[in-house]
Amino acid sequence: MSQDQDNFRDTIATINEEGKRAWIFPKKPSGKLYEYRKYASYFLLVFLFAAPFLKVNGNQFLMFNVLERRFNVFGFLFWPQDFYLFVISMLIGVVFVALFTVAFGRIFCGWMCPQTIFMEMVFRRIEYWIDGDRGAQIKLDRQKWNAEKIRKRVIKWIAFFMIFYLIANVFLAYLIGSDRLIRYIYEGPLAHLSTMVSLLIFTAVFYFVFAWFREQVCIIACPYGRMQSVLLDNKSIVVAYDHKRGEAENGRKKWRKDEDREALGHGDCIDCFQCVNVCPTGIDIRNGTQLECVNCTACIDECDTIMEKVKLPKGLIRYASEDEIVKKEKFKFTPRLKGYTAVLVILTGILIGMLFLRTDLEANILRLPGQLYEHKEGNIISNVYAYKLVNKTSKDINDIHFALVSHKGTIKLVREGDFSVKAQQLSEGTLFIEINNAAIKSDKEKLKIEVYSGDTLIETTTTAFLAPRSYK
Ligand code: SF4
Ligand code: SF4
Repeated sequence: MSQDQDNFRDTIATINEEGKRAWIFPKKPSGKLYEYRKYASYFLLVFLFAAPFLKVNGNQFLMFNVLERRFNVFGFLFWPQDFYLFVISMLIGVVFVALFTVAFGRIFCGWMCPQTIFMEMVFRRIEYWIDGDRGAQIKLDRQKWNAEKIRKRVIKWIAFFMIFYLIANVFLAYLIGSDRLIRYIYEGPLAHLSTMVSLLIFTAVFYFVFAWFREQVCIIACPYGRMQSVLLDNKSIVVAYDHKRGEAENGRKKWRKDEDREALGHGDCIDCFQCVNVCPTGIDIRNGTQLECVNCTACIDECDTIMEKVKLPKGLIRYASEDEIVKKEKFKFTPRLKGYTAVLVILTGILIGMLFLRTDLEANILRLPGQLYEHKEGNIISNVYAYKLVNKTSKDINDIHFALVSHKGTIKLVREGDFSVKAQQLSEGTLFIEINNAAIKSDKEKLKIEVYSGDTLIETTTTAFLAPRSYK
């Protein structure tokens, strides 16, 4: 590639020569892949908006209550005590995304990322509907403020604001829970001023991101986009321009009717610029894979339409790896992919195992700090403990009692009788464990304690028991 051809690396399409923001007015995409992306976006939007309002076994389907440290994932309730599961899930997510990126490039960005879904499938479509296609949008942007421009801008900003406010509400439902959000709505904003302020801040952030910052999120801010250069190789399948076919021996050239391009040595690219005009990040995919490309496939659709018109085979821009274009190599399961897959399978296995071992009730029984032991009548040694029980389910757990199974002894609660732990709550208290000295073999014994709800064993835990040295 000559230095001239390499110039595109020195600039980005969204900043002009004076260093100011250059607005992108992409042409409205159309074609087979765009239709598929629309269906994918409908599914994801419904999921995104419905997930905090769906309930499974009385639990919100998805909730990330960071303030109260309660998390629901697919209806399962997770507490801070389950943080290890969260860490493993995050690791699986990272390996999964890396695996997918190595194999299929930035496919996640184009088809699943909420930023692309909202930007391309919601807000841009509203813009096409109000302002018209690329040409009309450029004209409107350049024209002086008149009645038409004011009307269109006001309609657009109001429509955007309403959607941003709706998104902010849904976002809040993920954070504080949908039940609480609905209650707040019924009670009115004046009763919950701080929540209202938070909502307006979220709305302003969404406004900034989708109305102004837009594709800059993918180009500048998103760390995933930056990882491309590390993860991609010549075998990764990405949205790619077939430069072998497009350029041939003598390069691309404008279309002329009845011209024998093959004989002239020109490639199939007719230099119509439609793939550039349709690109939401403003790049020219013919320069090769670039960090800015979000794999939205709009250029594939656009070029296919052009190829159809000039009666050349489709797929000049398509999903392909560099090796497929240059060496005609088919997709291969490379050692790198095998490595990622192995790590993914191992981590998933660990997560499934841990989910199976996870109990409905978590019990912690710890000796009270600073307390030794008490020597009681009848050669009995007594230790005092603080217990903490966390009910991770959406139902009350009743008739709870403890049983000492490793030693012959008794457990005495400071409170009287069996007790309950309410759904999604915790219960704390004090208990004494008393063991006859004859059963004690060392000055620090490990005790095994079972926790029952009625006759059902629900958790097994261990704790330490201190005794005088003379009992060794
Ligand atoms: S749309 Fe196709 S033919 Fe037109 S410039 Fe792009 S690659 Fe070339
Ligand atoms: S180059 Fe093509 S796939 Fe990449 S962002 Fe632009 S239009 Fe989308």
